[in-house]
Amino acid sequence: MSQALVYRGPNDLRLEQRTVGAPAPGEVLLRVRACGICGTDLKIARGEHRAYAPGTVRVPGHEIVADVDRVGDGVTAVSPGERVFVAPNIGCGACRQCAGGRTNLCLQAQAFGITRDGGFAEYMAVPALAVEQGVLIKLPAAADAVRLSLIEPLASVVRGARAVALGDDDVVVICGAGPIGLLHVLVARARRAGRVIVSEPSAFRRDEALALGADLAVHPDELTQALRDETGGDGADVVITAVPSAAVQEAALQLTAVGGRINFFAGLPAGGAQIGIDSNLIHYRELAVTGTAANTTEDCRDALALVLSGAISLDRLAAVTVPLDRAREAFDTAAGGQALKVVLAP
Ligand SMILES: [Zn+2]
Ligand SMILES: [Zn+2]
Repeated sequence: MSQALVYRGPNDLRLEQRTVGAPAPGEVLLRVRACGICGTDLKIARGEHRAYAPGTVRVPGHEIVADVDRVGDGVTAVSPGERVFVAPNIGCGACRQCAGGRTNLCLQAQAFGITRDGGFAEYMAVPALAVEQGVLIKLPAAADAVRLSLIEPLASVVRGARAVALGDDDVVVICGAGPIGLLHVLVARARRAGRVIVSEPSAFRRDEALALGADLAVHPDELTQALRDETGGDGADVVITAVPSAAVQEAALQLTAVGGRINFFAGLPAGGAQIGIDSNLIHYRELAVTGTAANTTEDCRDALALVLSGAISLDRLAAVTVPLDRAREAFDTAAGGQALKVVLAP
């Protein structure tokens, strides 16, 4: 039997016992060790995620570190007892996006915890197609499962930084310092940004950003003036929006220097994504406005390499671990608005 946290409707997550079957040929059965709760999971729990239509019964959780429990016939990629990170996005394997490695953009994409059962459970089955695509990434035997569950959001952040070619000497503005904004601080530092400026209303989160390497953390009301002071009026080379706000997206264009790049990292709520922008800013300043969503298996490998090489340390990111049978408490903490990352340990 496997204890699992099951979505049965808006604000109705239940702990249930499920039977665990032996893996079929090509499949892998995982014993989950850690699975992070992120904003997407809170959205799912509220019943607001488009992949969780009315009537959906599913186990969420997509930031997964696990041990291989059993493997089906023919599986050679992993062996029982090995610790793995699970890259959550599975493509169809046949379309143009998949051929280019962009499994996150496949129209038939599946994802653990999103379109199929995920990691808020003791055991999780990995289908043969996913095993074949290499979503099980081996970790060192002694790897810290809780810390490394952060590889998943870190992979999305790495993808965002790559989209704006964040690099040497850039003046970077990161809007929002929740767990995602803080990961952007770490990635900007690892990519040798010149100045990292964080805009965040919560004083607690601003302190976290400074502790993780931001040069300056200001209240959003003070951002325009602070950036003017920092750059002599030029503006930022890179602006990353890590908060689901239309106003922040609109402001991003005003903050960006000539030739600058913008990443709309956070999506906006469905139906609230119409924004008003001065498109001449994009034209005359030759701005590049990018968006990124989720991540590919390659992004996950890149994120893991940054951590294992020591280029990024996740040790200072405040995280709390909660056992699966106290999942409700864990979701409340995650929704509480502190910068804390909450990780379930089934
Ligand atoms: Zn997530
Ligand atoms: Zn595909």
